[in-house]
Amino acid sequence: MKPTKIVCIGWNYKSHISELKSKFPEVPTVFFKPVSCLIGNGEDIVIPKGITNVQHEVELALIFGKDCKGVSEEDAMDSISHVAVFNDVSARDMQWKARDEGNTWDLSKGMDTFGPMSEPIPLKDAGDLQHLDLELTVNGEVRQRGNTSNMIFTIPFLVSYVSRYITMNAGDILITGTPEGVSEIKPGDVVVAKIQNVGSLTNGVRSER
Ligand code: MG
Repeated sequence: MKPTKIVCIGWNYKSHISELKSKFPEVPTVFFKPVSCLIGNGEDIVIPKGITNVQHEVELALIFGKDCKGVSEEDAMDSISHVAVFNDVSARDMQWKARDEGNTWDLSKGMDTFGPMSEPIPLKDAGDLQHLDLELTVNGEVRQRGNTSNMIFTIPFLVSYVSRYITMNAGDILITGTPEGVSEIKPGDVVVAKIQNVGSLTNGVRSER
């Protein structure tokens, strides 16, 4: 099932908010990435000409198994069929400039190849989604390490909250935020994102040719 959209949650780990000096949110921050940014395991993240300070963000991705609108927290997980490892690649200098000017993040988060995702696995094989270790390495060096228990808004809450306003269609993707340790990736780097029980995602980085 092809996704029609990727809905993204910003600022959902306490530790990531501290490092980026943002305020704790009262409600989830929701934004989108276009499906055209998706790439798979083994494909390259491509940094366009003139784009500086591109950063990685390891995130747990939820994949909807059926159309979903207005679900309660209690019923939320019935809508999710698969999970995957996602890297919410972000052009950070562009994103901060947009933020400072009161503009949207869309372009800085939505460029081609800025959505690496691992092969999804069935939800039932992932165990307790709210207690999974996340890790991201660049060239073998650990940059991000966290646990989904550190989320501000729980996974069922996020599904319920988003579906209150947006119909999530079968195949759609919801990414749930990143823990601390985001940092720059450069051409030649190899980025490996891992989530306990869920899998591993490896992508090289190169410049636009
Ligand atoms: Mg993110």
